[in-house]
Amino acid sequence: MKQPTEFDQLMDAIIFAANKHQGQVRKDADHSPYITHPLAVARAIAEIGGVGDTLVYKAAILHDTIEDTNTTEEEIRLRFGEEVLQVVLEVTDDKSLNKMERKQRQVMHAPNLSYPARIIKLADKIINCQDILKSPPEGWTLQRRRDYIQWGADVISQIRSTNEALEAAFDQIITEAEEILDFQVQPFDSIDQRPWGFAPNQVPQED
Ligand code: ZN
Repeated sequence: MKQPTEFDQLMDAIIFAANKHQGQVRKDADHSPYITHPLAVARAIAEIGGVGDTLVYKAAILHDTIEDTNTTEEEIRLRFGEEVLQVVLEVTDDKSLNKMERKQRQVMHAPNLSYPARIIKLADKIINCQDILKSPPEGWTLQRRRDYIQWGADVISQIRSTNEALEAAFDQIITEAEEILDFQVQPFDSIDQRPWGFAPNQVPQED
């Protein structure tokens, strides 16, 4: 049997993710199809990051399938291999935790991420923070958008010196965010002292 080319493998990942995310939409006012998100992440990795690694592309395209669809670890393992699965798992939140615990965990676990997972994390935060600026989810208050950007900056602060171009692109978005949302992103200090944290009597909002 003919060995699949890198192009074949990428197309296979795109088709798999498109099917898994079928019917899901992003939170912007236009309700963009969900698949536009992992594709934008993969494109940022190539075009901004200059990373040309098929493993990274495949994991980027699949990065939200386990977290947000019915995809199982076994499906990814059988179709894309153990290496891709492990990277996808590194960037998959544990949905048994509440929203605030998941946000905190992303910051605290970021330094442990492998290089491919860091690249995906950088591109994912670039795309998500860009979305929050350019086409914010309906109903989000100014403060909620600020908190999201601050949280993204906190995660990225933990994985600096991974890819200069992606980090510069992220910093550019932070600069724009500070202007558009009229606030100052704070340097990361301690996980208990974050502006996006919440008082114990408040119910964390899903996003
Ligand atoms: Zn994502």
